[in-house]
Amino acid sequence: MDKNIEKLVNYQEVDKELKVLEDEVRKSDESQKYLTAKKFLSTVNDSLSALESKAKVIVDSYNLAMTEIEKLKKTAEESSSTIDSCESENELNYFKKKFQSTIDAISNLEGKINSLSKEMDDVLKEFNKLRVATKQMKAQYEEYGPKFKALKDSKDAEMNKLKVKLEKLKADIDPVLMEKYQTRRNDKKFPIIYGVDISTNSVYCPACATEMSLSQKNELASGEIKECETCRKLLYALEK
Ligand SMILES: [Zn+2]
Repeated sequence: MDKNIEKLVNYQEVDKELKVLEDEVRKSDESQKYLTAKKFLSTVNDSLSALESKAKVIVDSYNLAMTEIEKLKKTAEESSSTIDSCESENELNYFKKKFQSTIDAISNLEGKINSLSKEMDDVLKEFNKLRVATKQMKAQYEEYGPKFKALKDSKDAEMNKLKVKLEKLKADIDPVLMEKYQTRRNDKKFPIIYGVDISTNSVYCPACATEMSLSQKNELASGEIKECETCRKLLYALEK
């Protein structure tokens, strides 16, 4: 096997041990609960502002509708008293119509006010939910913060040892290759570099099971490290 490939494969072996420890922390109840609470608390003010804006729009519309109703009520009263003193039929009909359309407008606005009240109730419910959730998440943060830290601390020594080991191995590996490896390392999926059996007629990527083209197969056979064209994992030919 090419020396560079061998070194990278060795590196991956050690890196895998580090990954196991990282996963133990990442997937732990302590970490999940702590990070969920942290994320919630970091966005709760935005959620609160959004609710406040929503409430303001409703209150403004409500006040506007109330003012409008007051005006219309006055108009209705005026029309009504005018009706009493009307002398001609035409005049009477005009004010009757005016009175009726004012009453209809009031009734429309009252409907609007009803639905605004309902909207406001919903916003208040959301406020309450948010308040309860915030209290819960604060407690969760306070409980799991120290637990998460303790778990991390308990792995620290072992992780640092592995990191030192990896740094040493890294110094001896082609930087271009290392860069390719590190980019994939962030995906949190292992392995990153795969040995491929190229002794068979059809050769498949061990990571994503895509069949390789003849040219890819030939490149691997020449001892190069290649990226799978489908899943971008690093591949090298296993020696048989
Ligand atoms: Zn693949």
